[in-house]
Formats: sequence, C-alpha cells, structure tokens
Amino acid sequence: MVKIYLDPGHGGTDPGATANGLKEKDLTLKIAKKVQDYLKDYKDVSVKMSRTTDTTIELVKRTIDANNWGADYFVSIHINAGGGSGYEDFIYNGNVSSATISYQNVMHGEIRKATPYFKNRGKKRANFHVLRESKMPGFLSESGFIDNKADANRLKQSSVIDQIAQGHVNGLVRVFGLKKNTPVKTVASGSTYTVKRGDTLSAIAKKYGTTVDKLVKDNNIKNPNLIRVGQKLKVSGSAVKYYTVKSGDNLSKIAKKHGISLDKIKKLNPSIKNYNLIRPGQKIRVK
Ligand SMILES: [Zn+2]
Repeated sequence: MVKIYLDPGHGGTDPGATANGLKEKDLTLKIAKKVQDYLKDYKDVSVKMSRTTDTTIELVKRTIDANNWGADYFVSIHINAGGGSGYEDFIYNGNVSSATISYQNVMHGEIRKATPYFKNRGKKRANFHVLRESKMPGFLSESGFIDNKADANRLKQSSVIDQIAQGHVNGLVRVFGLKKNTPVKTVASGSTYTVKRGDTLSAIAKKYGTTVDKLVKDNNIKNPNLIRVGQKLKVSGSAVKYYTVKSGDNLSKIAKKHGISLDKIKKLNPSIKNYNLIRPGQKIRVK
C-alpha cells in the first residue's frame, strides 16, 4: 500500500497569495481534492490530506501528521505569486534521498505535460518547512502565478484545475507504478443457462444473483431437486454486480452509493468477517 500525503497549502486564516479575485488556499484545496478523487481509480494507494476544508493548520502539524502516518510521499500543492509567471516545483535544498530527486523529475515532467500553457520555470530546491521536516521524500508544486493576469485567468477555469490535478496524479502513478482498479464486473442477465453435471438450482441461483424460488417460477420447475444435465434454464434474475473497494470507502458508503441497505450488503457478502475491515481492491457484491 502506497501512502500519499497531500498537503493543500494554506487555509483558514491564512489565505496564501491573493490576487485577481482568487485565493491560493481555495485553489490548492480544489486541486488536492481532485488529486485525491482521481487516485480513487487506482489500487493499493491510500491518501491522507493535511486538510479537507478551509481550516487553519500550522506547518508543523502537517509534517508531524505525515510523519506519524508513515507517508511514502509528501506532496504540497501551492500557487505562486510575486510578479512572475508559469510553473515550478521544489524539493529540499539540504540533503535529500535519491528518490526525492527522481520523484521530482517524474512529477515535474508529468505536470508540465498536463499544463503545457504554463511557462516552465524549472525544477528547484528551497528550504521550505514541509520539505525539510517531512521524513519521507517531499515535493512542492507551484502551478501558475495568482498575481499574473494570464495565469490567473487560467486558474479560474475548472478544466485547468483538472489538468493540474491530473498532472500530479500522472506523476504519482508513474513514481509508484500505480495500477487502475478493475472495473465493476457484471454478469449478463436475461440469458439462458444450460445445466451442467453437478449443478444444483441453488448454485445456479447464486451464480446469477437470483433465488431458487425465482428460477423455479421462471422455468416452471415441478421438482427443484430434479434438474437434468442439458436442460435450458431462464436465468433472468438480477445481474450479479461487484464493486471494487477504493481507499476511503466503508461499507455504508458503498451501500449508499448503490442504493441498497447496509444489511443487504452484509447478506450479499457473507464471507466478510469484520465489516469494519475492508481493504482497497477488495470486491464487494452489491447486487
Ligand atoms: Zn503557498
């Protein structure tokens, strides 16, 4: 499990840079939330955010939080200001691991590719708190200048926020070799099933997410214990559907998402022993 610590810069009483009707703290939160959201499509990755709302959090709390969590990567998201334009990123200017340097190379390349309209100010190093005090490799991006008219106009477009986020995600995917979740699988419904040797109605019902009663009714079966090999059965039951758990999911969230009750999801998944312990990548039957 790869642990990514996302740090949307500033927040609460600290707006960061402000200009052109924009506040840095709002942009960084939007971008970080998008990154978190996009990463839900990948397996074996877990994300923790220094903040998920507009709250004041001291820098020292952010690095302690990431260090205690044992993050694999500290990614701090900022927007620049001060009379320039374009994109740049930073790692610590003291001793850093070779991973820190190679990660920056990848992140820089991917973010540049996703946002080619920003002038490239390069890969840089600086003595920033979050980079110095985080025990894991750290990276800080500055996507555009809030006090530059052209950059600010870009930052006002949601498509640009998406692209900045996507660039960060593409970098993280490459750095950690993240793989996509397998999509939800659906067994075709409304089909015909040919009974095979050893089949029982309950096994067939289970396979198609229907019930023995429904099979009996749909197929006019006189004796449920007497089905013969080669017999054709209508299996127009509800299709079986599986959901792949993403990081941050819990069973009630998954139930809600699929419009079913928590009890129903528990019934559909009798093999789950501890309902509070589900892991990303796990397949949960939702239909
Ligand atoms: Zn900042």
